[in-house]
Amino acid sequence: YEHIQKVKEVRETLKLFDDVYIKLLLEDKAEKHEGRSKKRIHIEAAMTLKNQKKWVNCGWTFGHVPGVEIGDQFRFRAELVMIGLHHQFIKGISYVNIDKKVVATSIVDSGQYENEAISSKTFIYVGQGGDPKVSVNVKVEDQKLEGGNLALKNSMDMGCPVRFIYGRQRLKSEKSDIRYTYDGLYTVTKYWEERAPTGKYVFKFELKRNLGQPKLNREVVSRPVNLVKENHFHVNRKKLIMQSEFVVDYDVSQGKEKIPIPVVNAINDDRPPPFTYITNMQYPYWYSISRPQGCNCTSGCSDSKQCYCASRNGGEISFNTKGSIIRAQPLVYECGPSCKCPPSCKNRVSQHGPRYHLEVFKTESRGWGLWSRDYVSFGIFICEYVGDLLDEKEAESRIDNDEYLFDVGNYDEEIPKRNATRNNNLKVESNSLYGNVGRFINHSCLPNLYAQNFMYYHGDRRVPHIMFFASKSIATLEEFTYHYNYHIGHVYNKNGNMKRKNCRCHSWKCEGRMY
Ligand code: SAM
Repeated sequence: YEHIQKVKEVRETLKLFDDVYIKLLLEDKAEKHEGRSKKRIHIEAAMTLKNQKKWVNCGWTFGHVPGVEIGDQFRFRAELVMIGLHHQFIKGISYVNIDKKVVATSIVDSGQYENEAISSKTFIYVGQGGDPKVSVNVKVEDQKLEGGNLALKNSMDMGCPVRFIYGRQRLKSEKSDIRYTYDGLYTVTKYWEERAPTGKYVFKFELKRNLGQPKLNREVVSRPVNLVKENHFHVNRKKLIMQSEFVVDYDVSQGKEKIPIPVVNAINDDRPPPFTYITNMQYPYWYSISRPQGCNCTSGCSDSKQCYCASRNGGEISFNTKGSIIRAQPLVYECGPSCKCPPSCKNRVSQHGPRYHLEVFKTESRGWGLWSRDYVSFGIFICEYVGDLLDEKEAESRIDNDEYLFDVGNYDEEIPKRNATRNNNLKVESNSLYGNVGRFINHSCLPNLYAQNFMYYHGDRRVPHIMFFASKSIATLEEFTYHYNYHIGHVYNKNGNMKRKNCRCHSWKCEGRMY
């Protein structure tokens, strides 16, 4: 519980930082403060939050920092300071005084010195000072065994762990666009002096990664990062975000959703593979759709005692006045085509399609994903999972290509683990031909959406619509995920061999495998 609390605190501070930073940036642009450097704005934003006492882990010294996990990524050095990961805005080595001795607590490799990774476990870090390329107003001179350099040596003598954060340019062309990743704890194992290309002596420190830490494949994204490039900012932030150069498709729905769904890719030049976007389920020829029974409420289902659809939901309308679902249920009945109520009836929510500014984005290790430009509160409808309805036989034939198969499960089972038991073996496939935006939602072991079964269009309870709702409040640009509910060791290929797939949700609850 404490861990979750800390994660929340850290995220809250980072979110506040984003808000203050953007505000300062916009003010800066409006006032045309040409002289103010971007670095100063980050620091100014961080200092504003310090005055508001919003920094966390301020006095933290050695070891992992509460609420920060290996693989967490950050955009600015100032963020590291605010959450206690590294206590220096500019210097690469952070240290504390213990019994009048300086001892290192963390180092940042910003990619400026000639630091080098020998392997994923060993790193050579160049000491600080004496290089005019890196520090302004510095004469080329030999580095001295003082300050941070001495702190690293003392750290070696005392065997203290050092947090290591490495920063790398995300795109070759973008020098200022660096991501800082927390790599975990290291120990300084040796140090020596060496002549640098400048002709002067520098200190080099060998650091080895402490054992027993999760492997970092160096492509982890655990915190959604704002993809917007700073010079695209303007007063109308939303509009300009859409014009960002990362947009590779302005509307993946091909004009079929009420609000366009852009695709952004800040990783490479890929676009999602082509498919025909559909907004309604495709039922097979053998399947005959029965008309549902409707209600007679001409005035809009305001009286839940009179409304037939409400009576099927246990005598209540399932949505509050803001259109948020009140609670997860085995099956929810919305008003449908046979009902007398108007389209504006408050018992018609999910059938109107997505209402938020959804965006498909490229993740670093899970293919495409989905998030929103809007803050989403608990209970909000996100989208449906639309595709081809397949029976067991058809689904079996596609078993080796099941990336986009969704089990229509037993809705009398536990919710939201709704597909844990499969009773009818019907599946919805959002395949290479047909699908909607629901196909882009990835799995997480700690999801923020759940799949809710819905009826409105027809009366066949075996094939409910699958609607995704927010199971918690979701920040802007936080990836939408649901639990795929596979059982590890229980997914087989055509030949009956067990299949396995590693999970890369990177949540603290991750089970390591999807199946
Ligand atoms: N990422 C997909 C894409 O690029 O189209 C969208 C989701 S698709 C319904 C399901 C597939 O996404 C999975 O078969 C897997 O390849 C990938 N995926 C989803 N969640 C994942 C996770 N937590 N870890 C690794 N891969 C994941």
